Amino acid sequence: MVSVQEAENIIQSNIRNFGTESIPFQSALGRILAKDIKADRDLPPCNRATMDGIAINFSAFDKGIRSFPVLATQAAGDAPVDIKTENECIEIMTGAALAPSVNTVIRYEDLSIQNGTATINTNNIKQGQNVHLKGKDKKENETVINSGLLIDATLISMAASVGKTELLVKKLPKIVIISTGDELVNVGETPLPHQIRRSNSYACKAAMQQYDLSADMLHIPDDYQATKTQVQDCINKYDAIILSGGISMGKFDYVPPVLEELSVKQLFYKVEQRPGKPFWFGKHANDTLVFAFPGNPVSTFMCLHRYFLPWLDACLGISKSKTYAILNRDFTFNPSLQYFLQVKLMMNEKGELLASPFEGNGSGDFANLVDTDAFMELPLEKSNFIKGEVYRIWPYKQIFV
Ligand code: AMP
Ligand code: MG
Repeated sequence: MVSVQEAENIIQSNIRNFGTESIPFQSALGRILAKDIKADRDLPPCNRATMDGIAINFSAFDKGIRSFPVLATQAAGDAPVDIKTENECIEIMTGAALAPSVNTVIRYEDLSIQNGTATINTNNIKQGQNVHLKGKDKKENETVINSGLLIDATLISMAASVGKTELLVKKLPKIVIISTGDELVNVGETPLPHQIRRSNSYACKAAMQQYDLSADMLHIPDDYQATKTQVQDCINKYDAIILSGGISMGKFDYVPPVLEELSVKQLFYKVEQRPGKPFWFGKHANDTLVFAFPGNPVSTFMCLHRYFLPWLDACLGISKSKTYAILNRDFTFNPSLQYFLQVKLMMNEKGELLASPFEGNGSGDFANLVDTDAFMELPLEKSNFIKGEVYRIWPYKQIFV
């Protein structure tokens, strides 16, 4: 048996880099950028009007001129038009490029146009106003997105604006999620009273979809030979295998002996925690990792969030800051195991994150996950946890999105 910290350390010492690949930028949501993106030209690429109105040369205004004949009208997308003499103006629309001869935009609200002449009716004009200067945001060749970032809507927008149709991203590992158990039936079936629908594989697969990772799924009956054949096949095909169920002391729990027979080296078995104590972790000589979680749905879900997803983050170079919350009610847990308490999170008006214990029917209560937001990791050394104390949390709900 190892501690939670030891288990984490062992898993984190088995980080792998799966390389990179180039993909279309529209399909890159959720992936990790593997190469800096640079501006292909200045941003903005020209001096750009930010208001509808007229463009003038400020020096004319400075000399006291207030009425400007309109030489031309320029829409966004039109080539810039120079004024010929200083006292002329260009009627200009938001997004249009200013020619070198004009440098200041006066909005329609501050002028009137009659018989082809614009008259400015305010003295409050500043040189360069309402102009977004060329290169103000980014210079040509300057990095606009650093590698290592998670690709979200803002990055897709930036990639589009600099013409990056293909992005180099971190390759994802090949993952299979295997459920075990003769009591399990397909989700679409009506189970008999002694049967249940298999939900764990779907929970794991769904949690990985935020990485745009599409894991395969497989079900194996509680049969030694079938387990051996199927797991051997998966060892050949996948970078990591997630198993749920079949690792406890039951008569039909074949996973640990099969893994041993298939030369998957056990790196630990059993963690001082609840839920998820019988967690088995090991590695095959070909580097395939095996995360074998207990089948209880809360155990599988907790182990996935506490161990597997942080491993995946580390493989992809994602560094997430640790998250903490304030316990909002006294809580007692006596066994000498590290307890992962299901909590409901709430931000108070001071900006503090409060965690209310939400036990339901104990650590095995699967339905409770729907109503809660995170596991709070309570230290092993203590039994009594007092309102106001701060502990680490492992969120599974996207509360800020
Ligand atoms: P096991 O670890 O195989 O002893 O399973 C522990 C409990 O979790 C049993 O009640 C199983 O029926 C249940 N269980 C195992 N696998 C799954 C699964 N894929 N989906 C839902 N429940 C499961
Ligand atoms: Mg089982």
